[in-house]
Amino acid sequence: MKTIGLLGGMSWESSLEYYRAMNREVSARLGGLHSAKILMNSLEFGELRDLMRAGEWDAIGHRLAGAALTLERAGADFMVIGTNTMHKVAPQVADALSIPLVHIADATAEVARSRGFGSVALLGTIFTMEDDFYVGRLAERGFTVLVPDEADRKLVDRVIFDELCRGELRDGSRAEFVRIIEDLAGRGAQAAILGCTEIGLLVRPGDTPVPTLDTCGIHAAAAVEKALS
Ligand code: GLU
Repeated sequence: MKTIGLLGGMSWESSLEYYRAMNREVSARLGGLHSAKILMNSLEFGELRDLMRAGEWDAIGHRLAGAALTLERAGADFMVIGTNTMHKVAPQVADALSIPLVHIADATAEVARSRGFGSVALLGTIFTMEDDFYVGRLAERGFTVLVPDEADRKLVDRVIFDELCRGELRDGSRAEFVRIIEDLAGRGAQAAILGCTEIGLLVRPGDTPVPTLDTCGIHAAAAVEKALS
């Protein structure tokens, strides 16, 4: 079994889910007491959030690349960045490493394609919904990507940082997310990508009129697939 390198702490609420999902997946596939080999470097999210607010993406890329390199040196066979948003600096991280990176949008696109979805809603941070690193990557792979209107993008982003990344799950916010997904389904989305690794804590399968693709679980499963290949 290969060793997974996990950049975590972004936020740690979802790193817990990555850890649980990776171990459960190995256990489901190998049975018995088998578990995942994981090296995690958990970063200080408050510092990164300040850098995000300041638009200091080069500094963020530098930090993540340095953190990933420590995992490579410690023996990680490949890297997983445990957040959608920070894939904005995935090229910088990949350039610093000589081991491969499992990209969260690619893993999600693969699952969406295998389930026959061509048109997908995307909920995530403002960066994920508005910047090209994510939407463009999905579009390049042939998907039509629908994002909420501006007011709803702000709402989703606020809930992510002010509630979900702090471990707060509110019924009112769940209802808003379901309303937004319903609206995008009405505009033609066949599935909703939960493109922030904490959204799956709030919106559960069955809450929404179209299937959801939980990027945290999908990314963790892709990592285990690679670890066992
Ligand atoms: N975990 C979130 C994501 O998947 C947001 C936190 C971050 O900015 O990294 O995008």
